[in-house]
Amino acid sequence: MFLETKQLTKQFGGLVAVNQVDFSIEKGKINAIIGPNGAGKSTFFNLISGTHSPSSGQVLYNDKDITKLPPNKIAELGVARTFQTTNLFEQSTVIDNVIVGHRLRTNSTLFDAILRTKRYKREEQRCRDKAMEVLEFVGLTQVADQLAGSITQEEKKRVAFALALATDPEVVFLDEPAAGINPEETEGLAELMNKMAARGITVCLIEHKMKMIMKLADHIMVLNYGEKIAEGTAEEIMSNQAVIEAYLGG
Ligand code: ADP
Ligand code: MG
Repeated sequence: MFLETKQLTKQFGGLVAVNQVDFSIEKGKINAIIGPNGAGKSTFFNLISGTHSPSSGQVLYNDKDITKLPPNKIAELGVARTFQTTNLFEQSTVIDNVIVGHRLRTNSTLFDAILRTKRYKREEQRCRDKAMEVLEFVGLTQVADQLAGSITQEEKKRVAFALALATDPEVVFLDEPAAGINPEETEGLAELMNKMAARGITVCLIEHKMKMIMKLADHIMVLNYGEKIAEGTAEEIMSNQAVIEAYLGG
């Protein structure tokens, strides 16, 4: 199994935000999680990425139990994520945000940095090259040297993708990547997700824009009040009675 959750549960006091969810992500595909506000979608991501630790249940990744690992260790294993809101350093350039924001790992020590040794300069160049490579992938080379505060909302969404891609992940979890942008820009981001999948990067996104999901996702899970109420292809989901009821409040 590539990435799977077993009976994954998170309680906040008396509230069960994620309730015994069994889910497996399909490798190399575009997976989606949908559901009404407060359904537990972001919490589910937080449990996988180690941001929150589950109350019970497990997360398995390449058959390894990663349930108790801290976020940085999970990221190192190849699991990247974006957050619902990305806070960029607006007074820094886009490329510096990618370098610093994702703390691209270097082998340099503080001593190297102070003395600006050859090794430090080499590492710095490597980070810069990597950042440029991911900025090119997401279509942002032309704004690399602009201040992050000066770019458009849609470009900021792309920076969030670049941050996630900078660690060469095997799978990326995207929390509402297209929130707050127009249909044309949403189309552009959908293309970018297809490009990621074509590159062999497994995608799992949370999204409200149903039209986008139905076109884009290979595999969909529906959460409602923390529980998985349906799973399948777009066609299967669209005709599922429990899903229709959850969305229409019936
Ligand atoms: P979604 O992303 O589907 O909109 P969330 O996962 O953000 O939903 O939230 C699911 C439920 O858990 C909500 O009722 C929310 O208020 C609650 N919740 C989320 N995070 C916390 C937290 N850190 N502490 C307490 N309750 C939380
Ligand atoms: Mg959310």
